[in-house]
Amino acid sequence: MERQREESRRIEAFRNAARTILPLPDDEVRRRAAAGTLTELAGIGPSTAAVITDACNGVVPDRLVGLEKTAGPLATGGEELRARLRGDLHSHSDWSDGGSPLEEMAMTAMELGHDYLVLTDHSPRLRVANGLSAERLARQLGVVDAVNEHLGGTFTLLKGIEVDILDDGALDQTPEMLGRLDVRVASVHSKLKMDAAAMTRRMVGAVRNPHTNVLGHCTGRLVTGNRGTRAQSQFDAKLVFTACAEEGVAVEINSRPERRDPPTKLLELARDLGCLFSIDSDAHAPGQLDMLDYGAARATEAGIDPERIVTTWERDRLLEWAGARL
Ligand SMILES: [Zn+2]
Ligand SMILES: [Zn+2]
Repeated sequence: MERQREESRRIEAFRNAARTILPLPDDEVRRRAAAGTLTELAGIGPSTAAVITDACNGVVPDRLVGLEKTAGPLATGGEELRARLRGDLHSHSDWSDGGSPLEEMAMTAMELGHDYLVLTDHSPRLRVANGLSAERLARQLGVVDAVNEHLGGTFTLLKGIEVDILDDGALDQTPEMLGRLDVRVASVHSKLKMDAAAMTRRMVGAVRNPHTNVLGHCTGRLVTGNRGTRAQSQFDAKLVFTACAEEGVAVEINSRPERRDPPTKLLELARDLGCLFSIDSDAHAPGQLDMLDYGAARATEAGIDPERIVTTWERDRLLEWAGARL
């Protein structure tokens, strides 16, 4: 449901029902399913009860059969490149504005066959997204360590941040905390309409910062979806992408269909200027991690060499690149 971008209210209904059911003893769930009293429990309605009842009876729920029938790839044209992608450098958990625990994001990334997922919750200034203070981020790093210990090796949840680029180009987290992370995505989230000269200085400032590894959704535009549309911000893309190329900062190909960022012309400009790229999902829910299909299709259409896409690299090579300027 998440990968097909169904209404979040309907998805949340299933998550709530799961939260109600999971702590209950099996025999109670079976008894209620048989007696038709599941809907007496808080958070369980007729459609979630039907799914639970089917599952209790050992039947694949109709709902799931229907979803799987229409599953298929989200986009066509990027299959070869998609198969080469080893991970994702941009994702959110419920520590900031994502909808799920970081453990669940990690499990889904594993199911998708990723070698790594970078957890990039928001930075303090983005209060609407519950951005993490230095203290909360430090606590999150401890949780990430614990998760990795539990997972034991083949897959790694990497430590990261989507750090706000402040008006003057500085990054919205302490250098000490930024230095403790594996990968840092820097993005503009405020004053997207500032004049082009100021925006160019702001973005180049962030790109020159040795902590920055990825320039997130560079224009900030929204082309579709329930948040409405938003024009792309104005800046001297040649200057910004030249700085990216010189510093080895990857230009993000943000896979979210409502972003399609950078726009095709800018994507081609960054390609011609020799930039590195990172194909990211910017997932705010586990099912959205699969959106890489869209980014892979766009990168393929733009003729970008897979070697220049850092998310095709093995984990150790990625980490070496991400730490190279510190
Ligand atoms: Zn963002
Ligand atoms: Zn994000």
